Amino acid sequence: MADRPRVFVSRALPGSEPLERLSAVADVDVWEPHDPPPAGELAARAAPCDGMLSMLTESVDGPLLDRCPGLRVVSNLAVGYDNIDIPAATERGVLVTNTPGVLTEATADLAFALLLSAARRLSEGERAVRDGTWGPWHPTWLLGRDISGATLGIVGPGRIGRAVAERGSGFGMRVIYHGRSEVANFPGELMTLDALLATSDFVSVHVPLNAETEGMFDAAVFARMQPHAVFVNTARGGVVDQPALAAALHEGRIGAAALDVTTPEPLPTDDPLLDAPNLMVVPHVGSATERTRERMASLAVDGLLAGLAGERPEHLVNPDALDHPGERRR
Ligand code: NAP
Repeated sequence: MADRPRVFVSRALPGSEPLERLSAVADVDVWEPHDPPPAGELAARAAPCDGMLSMLTESVDGPLLDRCPGLRVVSNLAVGYDNIDIPAATERGVLVTNTPGVLTEATADLAFALLLSAARRLSEGERAVRDGTWGPWHPTWLLGRDISGATLGIVGPGRIGRAVAERGSGFGMRVIYHGRSEVANFPGELMTLDALLATSDFVSVHVPLNAETEGMFDAAVFARMQPHAVFVNTARGGVVDQPALAAALHEGRIGAAALDVTTPEPLPTDDPLLDAPNLMVVPHVGSATERTRERMASLAVDGLLAGLAGERPEHLVNPDALDHPGERRR
């Protein structure tokens, strides 16, 4: 059919419903390999399309958008959209949508799993079982930290930050938070970042990655944390100065770190960060549950279809693009 929109989907989607729904109204080109499309291939495949469903691995910038003159909507299968140059999309009248909310609980679960694992030294214990260093029970071996009664500092009191705070409260923690402003009914007490760092036994990060937050967790921040504090990051690797984190762990300026996100991803096995003690890293699995990923795919398709139909998508990241007078917004 001549007037069906064309769409590029940059990876096979979980579940069958989202792709079926998309295919019912659009001609869909899916990138099937497991690894992301190389930049040239991404541009070539997206060039003739009206819409793109992208992953966080795809860099969507001005030069790419210029190679895709018919592209009207980019729907990102993530709540974070730091892989997309939003001003470049907006000034070209390209709508950008994301998938907030549906991944909140899964990501909060993972943040709390990391917190618990680091507190109770689970990966160290598991390694001991496998490498034969598990000796007879001893009253001072593999002692961790209590969760109940400890102070949990949330940096970035949004959807996921709140869900982690609720988990902390449920485990008997005292919750404090730092944000750009006070959040109504947040289950914790607002503090300056300095006060939060000085007080927290656990610091969990939930800010988006942008120009303001890039490298926010640097040597000065780690120096202000308590020497036993556990640093948990399920936000984005870019909010952390990674060499500074490695140094803080080596020098015992913080107690431990548990990360779902790094720079780069995947983290090479010879990256110096992995030499740091008391460090646990998992491979960006925050939202990786079957139900969550299917809901993300469904929401991403909703955004794409709304944008292609000339409607305002529910989760539109750049509303200013709607007012853009350019060709793409006719
Ligand atoms: P959200 O609801 O937008 O929450 C972000 C929070 O951070 C907001 O409260 C925001 O405050 C706050 N914030 C922004 N800049 C800040 C700053 N400079 N200092 C302190 N607080 C700041 O987003 P969300 O749904 O919770 O997701 C948070 C992030 O988690 C995403 O951007 C994404 O990168 C990451 N994420 C990772 C995974 C994973 O798989 N590991 C999964 C999902 C999400 P304002 O309201 O003032 O803007």
